[in-house]
Formats: sequence, C-alpha cells, structure tokens
Amino acid sequence: MATQPEVGVSDFVLLDNLTTETFIENLHLRFQHNKIYTYIGEVLVSVNPYKTLDIYGPQHMAQYRGREMFEVPPHVYAVADACQRVLRQQGRDTCVLISGESGAGKTEASKFIMKYIAANTTQVHREYIDRVKNVLIQSNTILETFGNAKTNRNDNSSRFGKYMDIHFDYKGDPVGGHISNYLLEKSRVVSLQPGERNFHSFYQLLSSNNPVLKKLGMSTNTAYKILGSERPTAHDSKLYSQTNSAFNALGFSNSVIEDIWNIVAGVILLGEVTFEGGEGGEEGGAVAAGAVAGAVRALGVAEAGLRAVLGRRVLAAGHDLVTKQHSLVDAHYTRLALAKAAYDRLFTWIVQQINKAIDVPAGTYKNTLIGVLDIYGFEIFETNSFEQFCINYCNEKLQQLFIELVLKQEQEEYAREGIQWTPVQYFNNRIICELIDAPHHGVIAIMDEACLNPTQITDQQLLEAMDKRLTGHRHYTSRQLAPTDKKLKHGVDFRITHYAGDVTYAITGFMDKNKDSLWQDLKRLLHSSSNASLAAMWPEGAADIQKTSRRPPSAASLFRSSLAALVAGLHSKEPFYVRCLKPNPLQAPSTWDPLLVQHQTAYLGLVENVRVRRAGFACRVRYDRFVQRYKMLSQYTWPNYRGHSPRDAAAVLLRDLRLDDVHYGHTKLFIRSAKTLQSLEAARAELI
Ligand code: ADP
Ligand code: MG
Repeated sequence: MATQPEVGVSDFVLLDNLTTETFIENLHLRFQHNKIYTYIGEVLVSVNPYKTLDIYGPQHMAQYRGREMFEVPPHVYAVADACQRVLRQQGRDTCVLISGESGAGKTEASKFIMKYIAANTTQVHREYIDRVKNVLIQSNTILETFGNAKTNRNDNSSRFGKYMDIHFDYKGDPVGGHISNYLLEKSRVVSLQPGERNFHSFYQLLSSNNPVLKKLGMSTNTAYKILGSERPTAHDSKLYSQTNSAFNALGFSNSVIEDIWNIVAGVILLGEVTFEGGEGGEEGGAVAAGAVAGAVRALGVAEAGLRAVLGRRVLAAGHDLVTKQHSLVDAHYTRLALAKAAYDRLFTWIVQQINKAIDVPAGTYKNTLIGVLDIYGFEIFETNSFEQFCINYCNEKLQQLFIELVLKQEQEEYAREGIQWTPVQYFNNRIICELIDAPHHGVIAIMDEACLNPTQITDQQLLEAMDKRLTGHRHYTSRQLAPTDKKLKHGVDFRITHYAGDVTYAITGFMDKNKDSLWQDLKRLLHSSSNASLAAMWPEGAADIQKTSRRPPSAASLFRSSLAALVAGLHSKEPFYVRCLKPNPLQAPSTWDPLLVQHQTAYLGLVENVRVRRAGFACRVRYDRFVQRYKMLSQYTWPNYRGHSPRDAAAVLLRDLRLDDVHYGHTKLFIRSAKTLQSLEAARAELI
C-alpha cells in the first residue's frame, strides 16, 4: 500500500505553494479519489466520505501496526497506533482530540480508534481483554440510544459531549475505562425542529410490542407528542434489541433495565399530560386533566403527588410552607421541566452505571491511558440560544488548548532549544475565552450574578447588564452598543465574535436555562418513586423543603468547571488531533461544497497549522531516546557509548551514517525531513 501512487500530497506540509486555495484543492483532489485522510504533520485531517470505504478491515489494521505515521498512507488507524506506541514506548498518557462540526465524522472516528486499540492487544489474558473490549464497544451502543438523535445535519447526531479514558496495564493492554458526559441537549425532549427526531430511545421503546409497553397500556402506533412527526421504524426495533443486549453485556440487571425503560415511557407520557382551567393565584389554578394516569404508572409515583406538583408549588417561607397555585403557563412549564430533568438525569445515571461496569477492577495495575474526546463542534444556527453559547464556548476552550499545545508549544520549544526559525503569526483566542469565563466580568459571571439576584431578573435585564459591563470589548456587541446594526434585534440579540466567526445569540431563555433549577417538590416526588432506579437518581429529593434554600450552581458555571477539569486533564497528555470536515450539507457521497469546506478549513485554523508545521521539523526527540533507539546502527555507539554524552553520541552516530539534515537543540535532536527519519527506521528494521 505504501507503494501506491500518491494523490496530491499526503501531508499538507509538502504542498508547494501554501494558500487556502491550494489547501482545499489538495483536499478535494484526494476526496475525489476516496483518499479521505491527509496529514498536517501529526494532525490528521479527515473528510466524511458518506459512503462505506473498504479501508477499515483487519488487513488494514495490520498495515498500521507498529509503523511510523509517515511510513504508511494517512489513516485514523495510524493515529490510534501512534497513540498506543507513545503509551507503550514512552509510558506517557495520550489523548485524541476529535473536532469538527455536526456530521463531520467525529463519532465514527472515535469508534475506529477504539476498535483499533481494542484489536491491537497482546495475546496474554485474551479472555479478560476481550471482555474489556466488548464492554467498551457495547457502552457506545447504549450512549447512542439515549444520547443521539436524527437532526437535519446528521441522522445519528450525538447530542452530548463525550470524553472516554481507556486505561492500560504495563504491557499496554486495555484494562478498563471511564466515560464523562457533557451537557446533553435536554431541550430536545420537549421541542423539536421540523424534520428532526427526538432521542432514539423513545422510538426504540415504541418500535415493537414489549412487556413495558404492554404493562403501561401503551401502543406502537400511537402518535405520542414527544415523537414529533416521526414514527418508530423497523430499524428502531432492531436497535431496541441491540440496546438491551448491550445492557445485558454490561451487567445491568433485568429489573434495572425495566426501570430505565419505564422512565423513558414516563417521559413520553408526561408529554401527553394536558391542563385545564385557572389563572393561578390563591385558588382555582391549573389542574392536570385526566391524562396523568399513564405517567403516574410509568414513573411509579402517587397520582395525587404528580397532580399536586404539576398544579401548584410548595415554597418554604421562613418556618412556614406556602402553597401557590400554578397558572396554565406555569403548569405547562413545570411539566416540561420535569420531563427534561427526568431524562437528563436518567442519561447521566446510565453513564455512571456504565462506568461501574467498565471501571478498572480494584487491584488491577493501571499504568497509562488514552483519552478520546468526541465533542460537539462549533454551531451557528438561524437562532442561537444558551445551548449554542455553551457549545461554542467549549470550542473556544478546545481551540485555546490546541493553540497552547500545538502552535505555541511548538514555537516555544524552538526558542527553548535554541533552534533557528521564523515566528508564525496566529490569532490567540484567549481574549474570547476570557470574555466568556473571566471571574466577575465574563458573560458567565454576569449571568450567574443575575440568577442569584433575589428579585426576578428578566432576560432583557440580563442583556442590559451585559451591555453595561462589556461595552468596548472587541468581541462583544449588541444593538444597544451598535445602534446602526440592523441585523441585531434591540433588547434581544448580542453578538460574540468567535474565532470561527460571528454568532448572534438571542437572550431569550438564558436566565431560565442557566438557573436550571428544579423545584424541590418535584425532586421529592421523583425520589418517592417505587421505581428503585428513579428514586436513586434523585437522592437530593430526600431533603426537607425548608432545608434546601441554597441555590445549586448554575448550568453555565457547572459546564465551565467541568470543561476546566477536562482541559486540565488533557494538558498533561500527549495530544493527537483528528480534524473532521463535512464535504456537503446533504449527507451525500461524492458531493463537494467548496464554500462549506472553506468555512470549516478557516475555523479549524488548518492553513495556519500547516504554516507552523512547515516552519518546523518532521521529528524532535530527546537525545537519550534517540541514541537508545538507533545505537545499533553504528559501531561507535553499539553496544554502548561510554564516554559520550547522549548528545555527542547522537552526533557521532549521525556522522557515521552521513545524515546531516538535523539541528541540535539543547536537549533534543530536531530532524528536518521525514525522509531522514524513514532511512533511520529502515536501517533499524533490517537489524532487528
Ligand atoms: P459527528 O459525530 O461528527 O456528528 P458522525 O461520526 O456521527 O458525525 O458521522 C455522521 C455520519 O457520516 C455517520 O453516521 C456515517 O454515516 C457517516 N460517516 C462518518 N465517517 C465515516 C467514514 N469514515 N466512513 C463512512 N461513513 C462515515
Ligand atoms: Mg457525534
């Protein structure tokens, strides 16, 4: 395969004349020949082919085993192999950061990486390792059932962020894992865009007659509101069985599986509850009409209890409890909040249970790990809300990490090592991260302050507060601050100039989504459920209403701290990058939309990435490691190089081999071209 004629260049570093045009030309040329992978040094650029390519079989895996990235055609397997080699040879933790917009192929890439890692293990403890592999793969099935949905961009779109650690023992075999989930798009439970589906789980449960449906008197052909205009299909039915087998494989007991599906049914049936009557106030508020019975049975709660929490709210006022009847609007709001919270908590709880199943058993030696991050790409929609704000913030943080790890680190390393090079200018997006997350005056801090205010602050008042505090910031504007900008709606819109472009956010709903509070009486109700799993998901429901005045942290600040922890963890690992692009918005094979590709190329900073890389070297390696690896190639260094420092030994070795395409840094050797490295590897391979 290495001898196949190359189409275009397989590493953008080798482009003759680097511009955005030549970059995209090369990408397009390769795409037309089904070469969907291209490198920028060690960064892998991947274009979604939207068709099955015969490049992922066991024979293809074998080709990448133990080979340097430059020896074989670009492939996601090469990244997985490089990861595993760093881990095995250097004993370092690694991570693969997969980015790109929805439908670009991130999740598929993460699955290929897991598949490769799982396949590439030693023969000892085969049975045990097979179990771990199986468990890792089965967990994906469950995550997709509960966290994925068909959107207009991707038929199987992950609606949550996922970071998975795979732990290895000292031999480099996987021994277990851990999954972290981020920000499920729970608003999907209660509202759908035209043409989109809700989470797969709802359709799966309703796709065939099963005991849960039967017991609850539900039927496969009822047009439950939660389903939108979509109906369950035969494919959903197949997936329902797969999900249940995956549950079994992960050791979920039958009663827990039944609990889970009952909760899913409960959420569906909450969608059917309607209200009658009143305007609220002291008496005569809204009453749930008839239809609560189904939800009551599915959720295992008392009918009076459910009616009560939907119809009125109990508040602690000093030492007394005060009851306030809901208006129709409040009652609907409460029902939706309950459905969203129940589903969101179910998802997180399932992840926790999966983690118990894939956890490294006590007493097993954990040596290294590979982290795989598959998280939402940048989103710019017609209307952008709180969810897009969080997702785009996440992308700013990851871009910052990329800048720090790849661009900055590379340049700083040259400076530190005393290597001559020309600095490359790049845009540092730290200023945007700070606009969003700086303590006291970032957007999140301003939002949190508004949410903590004892008087009810409206979305519009929040916008006013942001305008006041952020006046003059280069990356923030609103109609108030730019009165002539007709694209911004007065009192509604604000715009952030992200590194990937301008995004206009509508402030509507920000306060509510950020508070994300569920009234204590709802938590108490769920905690009181006879469904043991549901009750366990809501432990805080056990607390007394009067003792729970402290506000839980806001949604944005929870997200900020979980991202901060994620980024801190990634900082200490050797990163590999997969940058995914989608070739067209239609999910169609062999179709190329130049503008769409250009946009993604720009916001992933790919051309900039090539420029920095070109200013650099194919390989940099510490002298001791270099000599250790290649000392057998010269009589002056084999079997040992006593009397020489590793640096001198490297120089002697290279002189002996007549290789001079290198620079000597203070602690590392910098090899300019891939060719030189290739010849060293080839000579070594001949000897061992
Ligand atoms: P993302 O996670 O970035 O939103 P996915 O990984 O779910 O996108 O990919 C969307 C769809 O594109 C997949 O369901 C699959 O049909 C197709 N796809 C992605 N990557 C590949 C690939 N390498 N080969 C073939 N089809 C792919
Ligand atoms: Mg995905």
